[in-house]
Amino acid sequence: MDALPSLHDVYRAHARIQAMAVCTPLVHSAPLADRNGARSVHLKLECLQNTGAFKVRGAANKILSLSAEEKKRGVITFSTGNHGKAVAYVAGQTGVRAIVCLSEHVASYRAEAIRRLGAEVSVKGKSQDEAEKNYHDLAGSEGLVPVVPFDDPMIIAGQGTLSLEILSKLPDTDVLLIQLSGGGLLAGIALAAKSIHPRIHIVGVSIERSPAMLESLKEGRPVQVEEKDSIADSLLGGIGFDNRYTLPLVEKYTDEHLLVSEEEIKDGMFYMFDQHRLIVEGAAAVGVGALLSRKIDVAGKRVVSLISGNNIHSGEYLDIVGGRLPSEG
Ligand SMILES: *Cc1c(COP(=O)(O)O)cnc(C)c1O
Repeated sequence: MDALPSLHDVYRAHARIQAMAVCTPLVHSAPLADRNGARSVHLKLECLQNTGAFKVRGAANKILSLSAEEKKRGVITFSTGNHGKAVAYVAGQTGVRAIVCLSEHVASYRAEAIRRLGAEVSVKGKSQDEAEKNYHDLAGSEGLVPVVPFDDPMIIAGQGTLSLEILSKLPDTDVLLIQLSGGGLLAGIALAAKSIHPRIHIVGVSIERSPAMLESLKEGRPVQVEEKDSIADSLLGGIGFDNRYTLPLVEKYTDEHLLVSEEEIKDGMFYMFDQHRLIVEGAAAVGVGALLSRKIDVAGKRVVSLISGNNIHSGEYLDIVGGRLPSEG
């Protein structure tokens, strides 16, 4: 499949991934709606998804649509964590061999989680780009089928199934707040949502530390940004120099872009714990962080903010949340 994915592909993905991905809750946040004068703010809780992030949707759609011969060869990927976990999970559930290539930069608890799901892990290189080179070498030498994290029509269509779940429950949604890194998530959600409901307002939320997609949109071609650490580590990394799908789709469907700081992300994480009793990773909290700092005017609007995952080291999490608790408890 080489054409851009369509709404039809998203419906097919929805049917295909039923056994791998759960339909996560869509809960109302009265405190966030009140603070922002919104008609409603709902949170789509992909932190409760299998493997702890939405990425299982795209990975399942891709792997389950491979031919019997491709499934026999096995799959390979590179990932900062959540995509690797998703590929390992789906491959493990379907009896397909999987190798996940990581850089030395990826936290060891993430590599361990991938191994526990039954995939082989290959750690090589100091950056995401070096891990990617290792992946190309291994894919060639071992004849494995590449499962890329975002720039693939089947991955994009899988992530787009989120829109079907959101709009079947809340068809009058005005604004969708979606995290933006490689853009598979936003491309899938936006293409499905706009096809169903053309007036919906799509907001991409990027991190100040790694706005690769924003810089690429400005230049009109994929550009590299300096790789810095972020509490939202799932949003780090570039969009790929040979980007074919997510850059044009994000350009076509995004109505507004927001950038959030590290402090705003931490505020969002604390708010999810304090008000909703939910543990979420940094990447998941960027939309809530943007709402808390009133980076976007949602007065009178029906808003949905995606909570994309919960994969964070317990110690790191406790430092962030514990540091914000009022001393009287
Ligand atoms: C991958 C990921 C994102 C961003 O998705 P892209 O398709 O790369 O834009 C957001 N949140 C979490 C938790 C992720 O794992």
